[in-house]
Amino acid sequence: MSGGFLSQVNDAFDTAARFTRHDPTLLEQIKSCNAVYYVSFPIRRDNGTIEVIHAWRAEHSQHKLPTKGGIRYAPDVSDDEVQALAALMTYKCAIVDVPFGGAKGGVKIDRRQYSEGELERITRRYTFELVRKRFIGPGIDVPAPDYGTSAKEMAWIADTYATIQNGELDALACVTAKPLAQGGIRGRTEATGRGVYYGLRETCDNAEEMQRLGLAPGLEGKRVIVQGLGNVGTYAAKFLADAGALVVAIAEYNGAIHDPRGIDVDAAVAYKKEKGTLLGFPGATDIARGIDALELPCDILVPAALEHQITGENAPRIQAKIIAEAANGPTTPEADVVFAQKGTLILPDVWLNAGGVIVSYFEWVKNLSHVRFGRMQKRHEEESLRRLLGAIEGATTKRFSASEVQTITEGATEEDLVYSGLEESMVVSYHQLREVRNRHGVDKLSLRTAAMVSAIDKVAQSYLDMGIFP
Ligand code: GLU
Repeated sequence: MSGGFLSQVNDAFDTAARFTRHDPTLLEQIKSCNAVYYVSFPIRRDNGTIEVIHAWRAEHSQHKLPTKGGIRYAPDVSDDEVQALAALMTYKCAIVDVPFGGAKGGVKIDRRQYSEGELERITRRYTFELVRKRFIGPGIDVPAPDYGTSAKEMAWIADTYATIQNGELDALACVTAKPLAQGGIRGRTEATGRGVYYGLRETCDNAEEMQRLGLAPGLEGKRVIVQGLGNVGTYAAKFLADAGALVVAIAEYNGAIHDPRGIDVDAAVAYKKEKGTLLGFPGATDIARGIDALELPCDILVPAALEHQITGENAPRIQAKIIAEAANGPTTPEADVVFAQKGTLILPDVWLNAGGVIVSYFEWVKNLSHVRFGRMQKRHEEESLRRLLGAIEGATTKRFSASEVQTITEGATEEDLVYSGLEESMVVSYHQLREVRNRHGVDKLSLRTAAMVSAIDKVAQSYLDMGIFP
C-alpha cells in the first residue's frame, strides 16, 4: 500500500479532478476535510475498572447541511480512517443527489469485548460530547449506523440528544436508522443491501456492459462471493439469491464457507446466529482463512466488510469479472490498476453502497415532516382508483374481479414508497455515471473515476453558486 485510507480516497479524487476544469483552489476546498473532532473520555466497566475511550467525528464538507454519515465501532478506528470515510460520504451523497455534506464518526473499541450496558454508556457519553461541541443536530450533522453499530445505538443517540435538547421539535431527526417506534422508517435496515442489489441488477441487465465482460445479461445464474455477513452483506446476499444469483461462498473474519452449487443464505444466517460462526455449515466446505475465499471462481465479488481487503497482492488472483463494492474502500489503488489491466468492472462504493444514506435521507425528511409517508394519500388514492374502475365498468362490458380490484387500487405504503425512491435513485445515478464514463471513453475512465468526476462537478456547483470561487 502506498499510503493510508485518506490518501487512497484523495488519490481517487486527484485522478478524477484531472477530468474536470475547476479552479485548483476550489478543488482544494472540496477535497479538504472541514472539521475533525477528537475526544477521549473515561467509562466504568462492569467489573469496576475505568477505561479511556477514544472517539472521533469528521465533517468533511458543509457545502450542504446537515452533514451525514455513520458511526463505526471498531478497534482500528483512527483519525485517518474517519476523514477518509467522511470524504467518501460527501462524494456518495453528491452522486445520488442526496442533499447532505459528508461526515463520519468512529469509536475505537472492539464491540464484542463490551457488555450491552457498557456499550450504552459509551454511546450516550459519545453523544453528549458531540452535543457539547455542536457536532450533532438535525440541521448540523446527522449520524447513522456503520460497521459495528445498529438501530439500538441510534436509539440511545436519539434519546440522549432529545433529553439534552429538551423541547426541540425536530430532535428525532438528529440521527437516522432508528428503530421504527422511535421515528425510524420502514426499509432502512436492509436499505444498503437492497441498493447493492438494485445497482448490480441494473449493471447486469445492461447487455453492452455484460458483453464487454464476456458475461450473459441478467443476474440469474451469476456466481457471487460475499465477504462479510454483517447487515450489508446479509441483505445483499439475500436479495441477489432471491433474484436467481448463486451465492457460492461467504467469507468472514474467522474463515469462509464454499459450495459451488449455491448456499442457502437464510439457512447460513440462521446457522451463524445459532453457532456464532459460519464454519461447519452443512453441505459447504470450510476455508480456514476468510480472505482466501475471495479468489475462488465466481462472476461477482461483493466485499461487504472493511476497507483494504483487495490489494495489489491478491487482486491478480481474483477471478471475478465484477467487483461490487458494498463496503467503503475495499479496493486499494494498486488493485484498481490490476483490475483495469484485466478488464474487471468495479462498481464503486461511492455509488453502489449509497442505499443506506438514500433511505436515511427519507427518514430525515419523514422526521422533519412528522408524518409517515403515504399516510395522507393512501386511502384517497385507493378511492380514486376504485371510482375509475367503476367508470370503466359503466362504460364497457368489463367486470373486474375482487382480486383485480384489490391489486389495481392498492395505495402505496411507506415501505413501497421507500423502495421505489431507493430504486429510482440507484437506477438514475447508474445511468448518469455510465454517461460520464462513456463521454470520456470507456477505456479512459473507470466507473470509479466517472463517479468521482460527477461528485466533484456537483459539489463544485454549490460553491460556484455561492460566488466564492472563480
Ligand atoms: N454508514 C452508511 C454509509 O457508509 C450510512 C450512512 C448514513 O445513512 O448516513 O453510507
